[in-house]
Amino acid sequence: MVTVAGTPVNGYFNGYKNVTMAEGIQLSFEAQRDEEFRNGFPFFGERLWIDLLNTTPFDGERRQDLVETSDGFAKWLEAAGIPAPPSHGLPTARDDARKVREKLRSTFEDLRAGSGVQAPLLQWVNARLRNVRLRLALEQDGEGVRLVERLDLGASGPSGAIARDFACFICDYEPARLKRCANPACTMVFYDTGKNNTRRWCTMSICGNRDKVARYRARKSHRTHAKR
Ligand SMILES: [Zn+2]
Repeated sequence: MVTVAGTPVNGYFNGYKNVTMAEGIQLSFEAQRDEEFRNGFPFFGERLWIDLLNTTPFDGERRQDLVETSDGFAKWLEAAGIPAPPSHGLPTARDDARKVREKLRSTFEDLRAGSGVQAPLLQWVNARLRNVRLRLALEQDGEGVRLVERLDLGASGPSGAIARDFACFICDYEPARLKRCANPACTMVFYDTGKNNTRRWCTMSICGNRDKVARYRARKSHRTHAKR
């Protein structure tokens, strides 16, 4: 765990309601924390870099890419609480994110298997982290004094947020908690943060429910056959 002045520094999307961006945008993840979908995008990976992997759902025939267009990418950034770059910078930021997404995809499997991180990904992360700054300040409000952490992504833009999230993750994770959804037809992945590490589904509302219905039907048909 990385700590600054005794305060754990986790990904700012992980429910850290005091974290704001240098641009002055207050990140209010608390409200959306339990939302599995935001703006229609899946956000149940429990980590930003894993949520990025889940922007390519399989529709039964092919992999879609939800951030293929600059517009789609801007909407995803908004849902993730990451400030979007000016519109002329969006295509470059989107290309950078999509490129690293493929590196992260193979890394996900490497980490599950207990292997380390490949050098090209480390280089990508370090190049983006170079511009990221964390600023601390004590601020006073009605409830008292609190330590506010501000992330300045600088020239790295959205990729800086992804790089920072991955960097925090890689220093403190358990391989057995990196999982694929148990539905063989589903390509979603997640980090199981549950106490007992028993999560099986990307979402209970979709794949978990589908399984429940299938098992119910199987039981029912078994009973019907048994009666005959
Ligand atoms: Zn699933």
